[in-house]
Amino acid sequence: MPRCTGPRYPSGVPRGQQLCYSDAYARSTEARVLAVEVEPAPAVLLDATVFYPGGGGQPADTGTITRSGDGATWRVRSARKAEGEILHDLEPGDVEGHSPPAVGAIVTAEIDWPRRHLLMRTHTALHTLCGVVWRDYGAQVTGGNMEPGAGRMDFEFERMSGELVGEIEASVNRELAAEREVRVGVLPRDDAFAIPDLIRTKINLLPPGITEVRTVEIVGLDLQADGGTHVANTSEVGRIHVTGYESKGRINKRIRIELVDPVV
Ligand SMILES: [Zn+2]
Repeated sequence: MPRCTGPRYPSGVPRGQQLCYSDAYARSTEARVLAVEVEPAPAVLLDATVFYPGGGGQPADTGTITRSGDGATWRVRSARKAEGEILHDLEPGDVEGHSPPAVGAIVTAEIDWPRRHLLMRTHTALHTLCGVVWRDYGAQVTGGNMEPGAGRMDFEFERMSGELVGEIEASVNRELAAEREVRVGVLPRDDAFAIPDLIRTKINLLPPGITEVRTVEIVGLDLQADGGTHVANTSEVGRIHVTGYESKGRINKRIRIELVDPVV
């Protein structure tokens, strides 16, 4: 079983294979049901999954679980991390008709791919924004959030102004068009702490027991400790608009973006 990472930082070795961290393009997998929760809401644990459980500003996946024997299908309305495992929350209405799949059942777990792919493009766009703002203005990111096709990032960016918006938008679009490769890696904790670029993204918040750090690198632009799913190349994002910026105080500024073409 491969070592896996948590939604934001690694959290030991879970029981199930969590494929989203090693292959963001995996849309479905066959799996065996390891555990079923009925109360307070129906949820299942699988021995392998492609679902992303949410974290680092990226929402959890939605999708379906289909039983191999008879094709019975349950909608997965969300997924979440619980003690290192990924639980799939089933649509309660689907469970009323037929009970959840039993422990030991063989199923196919499949994510809503158009939604996830849009989230991957959005997440990579936000890291590109982050990389540009750091490289050109030396401003650190303090947080972020996204929905499919749009997102925001907060920066310690005293000099941010309305006039800079156009400049930032043009620079981000130039970097996206530069077809930069996006690489996922895992670093031992000490190596991660030796990289100045990682320290700027608040890696110092990493809990002490964690020995490895998952990284996402936009080659030549940005390197961050990150647990999210990303596209493999910036060209897959397309172009972005900066849709607004807000002052959250003298220093803290929020920049909002959206993808120009949500459907590709
Ligand atoms: Zn991220």
